[in-house]
Amino acid sequence: MAKCSFCDRKAVIFIRRTGKYYCEEHFEKFFLGRVRSYLDRNKIKRKKILAAISGGKDSSSMLWALNSLKNEYKLEIVAFHIDLGIKGYSKSCRKASEELCQSLGIELKILDLKKEYGKSLEEIARKSRKPCSSCGTIKRYLTNKAAYEGGFEYIATGHNMLDEAAFAMHNLYSGTIKQFMRGGEVIPPKPKLKMAGRIKPLYYLMENETMLYAILKAIPYSEEECPYSLGHPIIRHKRVLLRGEEELPGFVYNVLKSLNSLRSEKEEEVELNFCKICGYPTTSEICKFCRIMGQYNLKRFPKISPLEYPSISFKSIPERQGILEIIAPTAMMGSVTVFTIPAGARPLLFNSYMT
Ligand SMILES: [Zn+2]
Ligand SMILES: [Zn+2]
Repeated sequence: MAKCSFCDRKAVIFIRRTGKYYCEEHFEKFFLGRVRSYLDRNKIKRKKILAAISGGKDSSSMLWALNSLKNEYKLEIVAFHIDLGIKGYSKSCRKASEELCQSLGIELKILDLKKEYGKSLEEIARKSRKPCSSCGTIKRYLTNKAAYEGGFEYIATGHNMLDEAAFAMHNLYSGTIKQFMRGGEVIPPKPKLKMAGRIKPLYYLMENETMLYAILKAIPYSEEECPYSLGHPIIRHKRVLLRGEEELPGFVYNVLKSLNSLRSEKEEEVELNFCKICGYPTTSEICKFCRIMGQYNLKRFPKISPLEYPSISFKSIPERQGILEIIAPTAMMGSVTVFTIPAGARPLLFNSYMT
């Protein structure tokens, strides 16, 4: 058995890109060192962070590592989990998230998609050809909303170096350059656009390293795989990248670094509007989240500018059982117009309208 390159103990891993063997203790040092480098480089100190956890190994390791550095970096951390309502899978993920936060003593906020918005991901997936894309939209939207409304500057996710490189490669491969441009090491907060920033503390770590960290630290996580993720093209890109890493140690890191420099050279500002239903930023009139949740009669929705939002109010009519009505102000409509929203629509969506 190989020995650690730094002490006499037995090695638990050989890391190709450093060319070194690591024992348990030195591996942990290496792991937290990479997270520190990330936090230092991106100036993440004294921040209020909402950690998005799925219950899987990556985000669980991320929260564990972040929590270990909490005092050193003076971070305020709250965890956030979305129960997507996918049979078997979601239950196991939710349980793992609860166990994790309990053992770390971190506050956990859980959002149950079906309970809050009337539709589970399983129901959405039945009608969608691309359930992963809808799921991504839903998770991004809801974590952002939770972070923005809770006053968090950053959302932390469990994406690692391999995920990031694979996503970038996938976008370049399929020519979705706009999506490629939107990625990056860190996304700064844009409070005017109601957008929290995004950080990826495991950005300088590979997937197998995250896995080993989770095992060594006995971190509670769910081994359940999402039934919809099987066969996703990202998996193939990961395989290609790992083959590159075999041939050229440091391949994944170097590719990612170069791709990032491409991004910063040609930073494209997309024009954003505010969704006419929920008031969160979107590139079209109605945001993708509101379209996926599809609880609205879009044709009947009034054309209004974001400036006029604060004057819209909603009221619930008890005798009509959960039916909400939006009352648009007279100034832009000519007269008071009442728009009926089908049952199942949640007042939560209307937070930004309430007067
Ligand atoms: Zn050692
Ligand atoms: Zn919306």
